[in-house]
Amino acid sequence: MNNKYRILIVEDEKNITQLLTALLETNGYQVVSATSCQNGIMLFSSHNPDLVILDLGLPDADGMEFLKKIRKNYLTPVIVLSARSDERDKVEALDAGANDYVTKPFGFEELVARIRSALRNSKNAAAPEKTAGGVFRTNGLAIDYGARRVFVDEMEVKLTQTEYNIIAFLSVHSGKVLTYNAIIKEIWGYNDLNSTKRLQVNMANIRKKFGEKPGQNKFIVNELGIGYRMCENDEEN
Ligand code: CA
Repeated sequence: MNNKYRILIVEDEKNITQLLTALLETNGYQVVSATSCQNGIMLFSSHNPDLVILDLGLPDADGMEFLKKIRKNYLTPVIVLSARSDERDKVEALDAGANDYVTKPFGFEELVARIRSALRNSKNAAAPEKTAGGVFRTNGLAIDYGARRVFVDEMEVKLTQTEYNIIAFLSVHSGKVLTYNAIIKEIWGYNDLNSTKRLQVNMANIRKKFGEKPGQNKFIVNELGIGYRMCENDEEN
């Protein structure tokens, strides 16, 4: 057991906090909780958590304010917990630096999986040489970063430079949903009216080359209206 991670829950609904606390403690995490944005910011500074679970609907302010405030100085992973099913809220939170989101009502197993993934991702972010060498693997997909070559079930798939860049970017952040906007900025450096369409066309071509049928999410999950998520690296599980 090496998961003595400290998690800060910022959530005003007491029963959710209680359930979450019990669940997280059972999974070996240390838990601190706040019921308002203000209180959350205070506890964040005093406890220096490894991860934050953030409710967006807080009594004193929008949870987005908490997110924007801490993102000025910290890269601590934040998972947004929200009753809002509106895609725009999720996109806004992700673009403001949230690492992931879970929509209420959520399954505990799903949430714990997202927490593990976010913690693992933040650990990896400390190793920027990741794409310099090494191979990413998930469900039979292999990306050789050194050679910039991609294989599906040991067969090489020929990708364009742009397609490769998209895949490599998604894989470096595997397990995390990346918004259309974040991917576009990384790949093309600018965002115009046709960017989303261009990204979707590239993704469709990548899926075709990978032999994925429409609706199949073997390697890449399309989070509709939000962005894409690459399945996690097998070797880190
Ligand atoms: Ca709330």
